[in-house]
Amino acid sequence: MKPTFNVREQSEIYIGPTADILSGVLPEGRVIVVSDATIDRLYHPLLAPYDTVLIGAGESIKTLQTVESIYRRFIELGADRSTFVLAVGGGIVTDVAGFAAATYMRGLSFGFVSTTLLGQVDASVGGKNGVNVDGYKNMAGTFTQPRFVICDPALLRTLPDREFRAGLAEVVKAAVIADADLFACIAQNTFGQLRSDAELLADVVAAAIRVKTDIVGRDERERGERRKLNLGHTLAHAIEKCSPAMNHGEAVAVGTALIADAAVRLGVLPDADRVRIRELLARLGFDLTPPVAMPLLLKEVVRDKKREDGLLHVVLPVGIGDCTVRPMTPEAFAALFD
Ligand code: NAD
Repeated sequence: MKPTFNVREQSEIYIGPTADILSGVLPEGRVIVVSDATIDRLYHPLLAPYDTVLIGAGESIKTLQTVESIYRRFIELGADRSTFVLAVGGGIVTDVAGFAAATYMRGLSFGFVSTTLLGQVDASVGGKNGVNVDGYKNMAGTFTQPRFVICDPALLRTLPDREFRAGLAEVVKAAVIADADLFACIAQNTFGQLRSDAELLADVVAAAIRVKTDIVGRDERERGERRKLNLGHTLAHAIEKCSPAMNHGEAVAVGTALIADAAVRLGVLPDADRVRIRELLARLGFDLTPPVAMPLLLKEVVRDKKREDGLLHVVLPVGIGDCTVRPMTPEAFAALFD
């Protein structure tokens, strides 16, 4: 089977049935799987042929301690430079396992079977991996491309609605950044249709991946255009820190709505587009109320260490399917929400 996308001639992205694709892309030799207990329960036959390292679930396990526990299991299992690591799971598994593989013995090759919508359209694609430090998102990590990513829409059938919805937040984000047709397509369909129509879902997944692979193909290391993929994320990361009960996609939905408000205040986004963004997210079932008071969120943004030369690179939508990046001090960013 031919890959649907190829990122920088290094990473093949496949959309289709896992078993058929996996047999064609796994290298000869030793394979160790990293996954979690839910995937092991739901898809045991997929993992059964391999030595498997299971990690916990949730943002709180995305830590260096978990990475260290994976290294220990790799040592016990006798993993060496020729071992291939196959991560099977959502964004937590692929972020953590990708980081462990990219750093164990200075780097093993790895590939992903991405099992959440959010993973398929975003987390597994593009070569960023990493862990949080003291609750600050993705403070340690690498840019290392997986050899392949398999996105099998059939695996999404077992996703709880809440996790499916989280993935739609990143799809809407991709659409706002660069694909007005994708935005219109989601707006024309209900949550239920997106969940149940396999062909529609495969098209939506492909369109969102295309937005990401196009941008990553031009700017792998986030020196410029890749920053656009962080639309809504300055606030989303603060929301995740202040409100651990929310998942990443839910935080991105709120962050996207709030940055659309700010873009209107700055005069770069027509109000009608802000309304369309908010209406679509609300129709998909997101609660767009910030989970804590804005001053608390903004305090978190100001405290966040992730900036360059003291500046945040704030992504502002300028229309549906177009955005711009504006460097700002954290204080100037906070002032947008006064
Ligand atoms: P997740 O990995 O926590 O998965 C959500 C839950 O769904 C987990 O409990 C998991 O066990 C379960 N699950 C996974 N696949 C399933 C399936 N097919 N059926 C039933 N249950 C299943 O969450 P996520 O939303 O996939 O990933 C979120 C993470 O991704 C965040 O840490 C975020 O920062 C990261 N992320 C990374 C990038 C990147 O470029 N590296 C981009 C976006 C997000």
